[in-house]
Amino acid sequence: MIRRSRTRTYGVGALALLAFATACGDNGGGGGAAPAATTAAATPRPTGAAPTSASAPPSAGAPAGADAAAWAKWNLTPLAPAPAPPADKPIKLERTGPVPVFSDVKTSDKVVFITIDDGAEKDPKFVEMLTDLKVPISMFLTKDIVKNDYGYFKPLQALGNHIQNHTVDHPVMSKLSADKQKAEICDDQAALTQQYGTAPLLFRPPFGDGANTPMLNTSVQQCGPRAIVLWRESMQIHDMQYQAADKKLKPGDIVLAHFRGPKELKGATMTQMFGDLLARIQEQGFSVARLEDYIQAPAS
Ligand SMILES: [Zn+2]
Repeated sequence: MIRRSRTRTYGVGALALLAFATACGDNGGGGGAAPAATTAAATPRPTGAAPTSASAPPSAGAPAGADAAAWAKWNLTPLAPAPAPPADKPIKLERTGPVPVFSDVKTSDKVVFITIDDGAEKDPKFVEMLTDLKVPISMFLTKDIVKNDYGYFKPLQALGNHIQNHTVDHPVMSKLSADKQKAEICDDQAALTQQYGTAPLLFRPPFGDGANTPMLNTSVQQCGPRAIVLWRESMQIHDMQYQAADKKLKPGDIVLAHFRGPKELKGATMTQMFGDLLARIQEQGFSVARLEDYIQAPAS
C-alpha cells in the first residue's frame, strides 16, 4: 500500500484514514530506515547479574515443552520458546519529561513483539487460542470500540497480557487541538484503568499519526503513558507488510495486528489471521516475546 510514503509532514496520516497500515514507523532515534543491526557486541547483557536464573522458564512465548497437541489443534507447530526476558531492559522509561517514540526494541534476541489494536472483533475462539498457545500479545484498546464488551479482554489480560492506550475514538491526532488530544488520551486512560485495574504505560496514536510531534508528546505526558509505540511490520490477512525494503523481520521488531473478523479479513477469521502471523514469524526463525518484558517502567 503506502508503506514507503513516509514524509516529514505530520498531517500525512490524514490521507491514510482508510489504510490500516500506514508508514508511520519512524522512530524517535531517526534510525527507522536502518536495518536493526545486530547489537550484541555493542550492548552486552549482564547475564548472571539477573535475579532470574538462566534456567528460569521464560514468562513469554511458548512454554518449554509446549503442548504440541495444543498447537496442532490450531494447525500449527509450536513456536520456539522465547528466551528469558533481559534483566537489563533495553528500554527504560522515565517518570517525567518527554516520552520516547519507538517502533522496535534494541535486542539481539531473535524475538519479535505482537501488538493488537482497536478491539473491534471479539471472537471467543481467539481467547481459546491464546489460552492454548500462551503467545504473548500487547493490546492497544480504543474505548469506543471496546466499551460494549470490556469483559472480552479480561481473560486475555489474565494470561499476562497488558492493555495499552489507543484513544477514545480513533481520530487522526494531528488534526486535533491540544485539548482534544488530551481528552482522547486521558479519557481512554481513565476508562482502561478503571476497567482493567492498571494504568496503561504505553500509547499508540491511530495510524501512527502525529507520533513525532511535540504537541502529541506533551498530550501523552499529561495523561500518564510514558512511551509512544509504533511498529515495523503490520499483519494484513495472510502476510505482513514490511517497512524494511528486504521484507524481513529483525530482532526486536514490533508487529502491528488488529482485532478483526471475516468482514475485514475477506472471510478469514481472527484465529486464522493470527495463526498465519505466527507461521510467518516462525518461518523466519523468530519467536514471540512480551513487549513489556523488554521495557523498564519508571520507578514510582
Ligand atoms: Zn487503531
